[in-house]
This record gives sequence, structure tokens and C-alpha cells, in this order.
Amino acid sequence: MNEIIKLDQQYNLADKIKNKITYIEKYPKLLEMKTKLSKINNLEERCIKELENLKKTNILLEKKLKNKEDELKKINKDLYSGLIKDIKLLENIKNKEIHLEESKEIVEQDLIGNMEKMEILNNKIEKCKIKSIELKEIIENSNRKINEKLNEYRNKLYINLEEIEKLRSKVNSDDLIKYDNIKIKYKNPLVKVEKDICRGCNVELFMNKISKLDNNEIIECENCGRLMYKL
Ligand SMILES: [Zn+2]
Repeated sequence: MNEIIKLDQQYNLADKIKNKITYIEKYPKLLEMKTKLSKINNLEERCIKELENLKKTNILLEKKLKNKEDELKKINKDLYSGLIKDIKLLENIKNKEIHLEESKEIVEQDLIGNMEKMEILNNKIEKCKIKSIELKEIIENSNRKINEKLNEYRNKLYINLEEIEKLRSKVNSDDLIKYDNIKIKYKNPLVKVEKDICRGCNVELFMNKISKLDNNEIIECENCGRLMYKL
């Protein structure tokens, strides 16, 4: 087989390997997993922040509750000591007690509400942690496999490029210049002729060209300028 056909095949192989490498480097499933992981990590972070805020709020609410309880104890002491005889004053204190009891209840409800929210957040954080570990493991495994594949293809490409250099040194220099120039213009500088038609531009060839091809010569297409061969 003509060396230029072999060279062309090696160039095609190089393109295929390069495409594979590009695809593997940007492997869509891995990117998807990484996006998922970062979303989960963000969610976990938000939950932790929210949880911390609720904890701080609850410390304040507990202090508030303690104050109200202390105040209530004091009022109760005053109310039931029997020392206060003034009915109006007693009524005032009683009203204060009712008011305090009500506001204490509100604080207690807030505390309970916050604790429920905290439990939900803790569950969410736990789930995020489990999912994150799972995803990290998957990503790690994929990365390992991807690196193995990349090494494999890079080795193939290395051998392929060496082969290209070897073939280039064997090809007739005029043909090589022609080939290189056409390659700048077309992805497929060398095409097959099938049924007397150039497979680069699909135009039928003249008879004199066909006879050259039948002699295993490599010729230029008069229409598109590509090199052509017939097997
Ligand atoms: Zn053509």
C-alpha cells in the first residue's frame, strides 16, 4: 500500500484518539456528579448555619424563659404571702401574673418550634453527609478509571505520533507537501474513489484519471483538489 495512505490512516487514528481524550477529560457523568456534590455541600453548609442561628436564638429564649419564671416566682411569693392587703395592688399583681404566664407560654412555644426545626435540620445534615460520602467515593472511582483510560489513550497517541513521523520520512516529499496543503483546507485530504466518483466532493472523474487510479497512482481531484486513490 502506498505510504501516504498509511500516513492518512494514522492521521485519522490520531484524530480519533484525540477526540476520545477530549471526551474523557470532560466526561459528562463525572461533571454531573461533581455538580451534585457541590450542591449537596452547599445545602449542608446552609443547614449548619441555620442550625447555629437557631441554637443561638434558643439560648436567648431560654434566658428569657428563666427570667420570666423568676419573675413569676417573685410575684407568686408576693401574691400568696398574705402581706399585701391592698386589693387594687393585689389585682395589679394578679394581672401582671396573667400577662407573664401568657408571654412565658409564647416563649415556650417558640422554643419548641425551634427545637422541631433543629431536628429537621439535623436530619437533613445527616442525609447530606451520607450522600456526600457516597458521591465522593463514586467520583474517586471514576477519576481513577478516567486516569487509567487517559494514560492508555495518551500512550496510544504517543505510538501513533511516532508512526506518523516514521511514515512522513518515507513519503515522497512532493506528495507530502501536497498532502499537508490539502489537509489545511479539508479534514479528509485523501479520499477513496468509488464507482468512479471522488468521495470527497462526489463528482465523477474523467476517464484518463480513472486509468491512472487503476495503476495504483495517487492523483488529485480536478474538482475539489483532494488526493484520491483506488484500492
Ligand atoms: Zn473531489
